[in-house]
Amino acid sequence: MGKLVIVGTVAFDEIETPFGKTDKILGGAATFIGLAASQFDVDSAIVSIVGEDMDQEHLDLLASKGIDLSGLEIVKGGKTFYWKGKYHNDLNSRDTLVTELNTLADFNPVVPDAFKDADVVMLGNLHPSTQLSVINQMEKRPKLIILDTMNFWMDNALPELMETIKHIDVIAINDEEARQLTGEYSLVKAAEKIQTIGPKFVVIKKGEHGALLFHKDNVFFAPALPLEEVFDPTGAGDTFAGGFAGYIAATGNTTFNGLKNAVIHGSNLASFSVERFGTERMQDLDRAEVNKRLHQFKTLTQFDIELK
Ligand code: AMP
Repeated sequence: MGKLVIVGTVAFDEIETPFGKTDKILGGAATFIGLAASQFDVDSAIVSIVGEDMDQEHLDLLASKGIDLSGLEIVKGGKTFYWKGKYHNDLNSRDTLVTELNTLADFNPVVPDAFKDADVVMLGNLHPSTQLSVINQMEKRPKLIILDTMNFWMDNALPELMETIKHIDVIAINDEEARQLTGEYSLVKAAEKIQTIGPKFVVIKKGEHGALLFHKDNVFFAPALPLEEVFDPTGAGDTFAGGFAGYIAATGNTTFNGLKNAVIHGSNLASFSVERFGTERMQDLDRAEVNKRLHQFKTLTQFDIELK
């Protein structure tokens, strides 16, 4: 069984969408990544930090999915990272209303010894220096290091981000972030430019319009499944990343073909995540449902065409 290290937030989120709002519920990039990756046969560990206010039932949920929590620091008397966001009517854009770093402000990730030889490292959206510190703790070079980031770090920690990007294999960002990072409007040119910095593979997420995978001269496109119900997009990108990383950790396949399948698995899992608030849909998702939707994915994109 492949080993996967996941670094990112385990958080409290408060979310408002056109369909309703929540109180403080379980969220965080590492949470979504871990839940998605647990759909595969992988040994995964979350490296993160929370305060004493984090509910035991949330931690029990993650543990029940087989996720190792020995790298999750619980700070006595501390408060967990808290994020509040409100989506606009089209669900494509949102306003961040509150970000309270709390314990995350002093986060020094410590990779558990048993995971220092992990096959895959999934660096969730965090300060790029924190991400780099995880890479530096690995005792052997992982088969694949995947990084997610956001425009906030491009605005506030660009030199550190450029340094961290040199050490990774796959970057997973959205289209606007790819444009901001490279100054290129064309996503093809942006992906080319990013590959000259370090990552051999570039994944560009386009929300409800799917995801692109670039590697040298190869491009692959996976649509997002057209859904009847989209309730809350929070964590869709992280769920995608968790499915992507989980599939690779489980199969060990780091070829372009392997990564194509990883994009499909990531897109498939993200399609579930958005159907309910927060992590609700991912909490009891079973593999039969996941598999059934994979079949839908296949028929969505398959066609017979006669080519001369
Ligand atoms: P996404 O919808 O993919 O952007 O991910 C949403 C998750 O990211 C939420 O569950 C938040 O707890 C978490 N989050 C929001 N802002 C930040 C931040 N500045 N740093 C790290 N995680 C964040």
